Amino acid sequence: MVEKVVIIGSGPAGWTAAIYAARANLKPLVFEGSATWEPNRLNGTTPLGQLNLTTEVENFPGWPHVDAAALAHFAKSGLPEDRYAALSHLYEGKRAHPGHRAVFGPELMEFMRQQAVIFGTRIVTDDIVKVDFQRHPFVLHSREGETVETQTVILATGARANYLGLPSEDRFKNNGVSACAVCDGALPRFRNKPLVVIGGGDSAVEEGTYLTKFASTVYLVHRRNELRASKIMQERALSNPKITMKWNRALDEVLGTENDGVTAARLKSTVDVATEELPVAGVFLAIGHTPNTDFLKGQVKTHPSGYVVWTTPQRTNTSVPGVFAAGDVADSYYKQAVTAAGTGCMAALDAERWLAEKGHH
Ligand code: NAP
Repeated sequence: MVEKVVIIGSGPAGWTAAIYAARANLKPLVFEGSATWEPNRLNGTTPLGQLNLTTEVENFPGWPHVDAAALAHFAKSGLPEDRYAALSHLYEGKRAHPGHRAVFGPELMEFMRQQAVIFGTRIVTDDIVKVDFQRHPFVLHSREGETVETQTVILATGARANYLGLPSEDRFKNNGVSACAVCDGALPRFRNKPLVVIGGGDSAVEEGTYLTKFASTVYLVHRRNELRASKIMQERALSNPKITMKWNRALDEVLGTENDGVTAARLKSTVDVATEELPVAGVFLAIGHTPNTDFLKGQVKTHPSGYVVWTTPQRTNTSVPGVFAAGDVADSYYKQAVTAAGTGCMAALDAERWLAEKGHH
């Protein structure tokens, strides 16, 4: 059997593409990624994407703060029992999050997944590790040995935030360490507290500037004595009284406790042997992202940074006719859940129209 649409990836781009493709009667097949392959856990590339690794999502339209009990009821009513079980720790027991709050990333992703399921999306919990776009129908190979033929493909494998790889950084992820200021900056734990941002590019400067809305002070820690960020962004940061530059410094260790989360950051000099300890409530990494495109090598045009190239303005077309890309896998600029969902919708419509033009639909 030749599939009409295979969607690779299961973040907001993948599920939105699936919802649209399913409602267009294309019977999409989603490879949502392997949940058990250890490198996926270490890289943050497990099913449901980067949002599944975050806490509250306050900027996805349609999700204002509500009583957590209402979210629990919503989840119970909307999800099958086994999927609800994966979220039940948010509502029940010692780790529950009561009170008035926004939707959590994992909740939002389960709801999107379920919305795709109810319209007939089929899901395989495995990674696609190899593709052949030289022939048509395209051929895809999964990690567990499945081979699939398909008329169109929507690439929605996203990107992963780069971390430094310190064990202490890993220990405090979601407990004071974050790689997304826009996602996490407004959380109560960071309000009126000193924070650290690591990096010297546009993201670091933008995230540092954004965090000054909430933090008492933002230390911008950069490994050189000159920012990589664009001049206008640099000027904005350097003239902001709430930003203190820490030049020629690198993060040596994140300090804290399980209960309090992050309490300090130890920095080391990159030019001598000096170290210093800054009392901070949060450490934000802004040292770039890596798109999840290793499995596409040589098959579709990518930028030197690895992001898939959108070849046609206002469309999700790639260099291979019939292969479309949505979300962060092709977007190094906006990188937001809602923009990923938007391009996921576009990719499904582009695939549907491409199939219709070719007489396959
Ligand atoms: P980037 O430009 O690649 O900058 C990454 C920064 O992290 C660099 O300053 C780099 O230091 C530092 N870094 C990398 N690895 C590190 C490590 N192991 N330890 C310490 N520091 C490390 O990435 P980005 O800032 O995410 O930007 C990505 C792209 O998006 C860029 O094209 C950027 O212009 C664009 N962007 C634009 C805007 C905007 O215009 N509003 C906002 C965000 C991003 P070095 O400088 O020493 O290499």
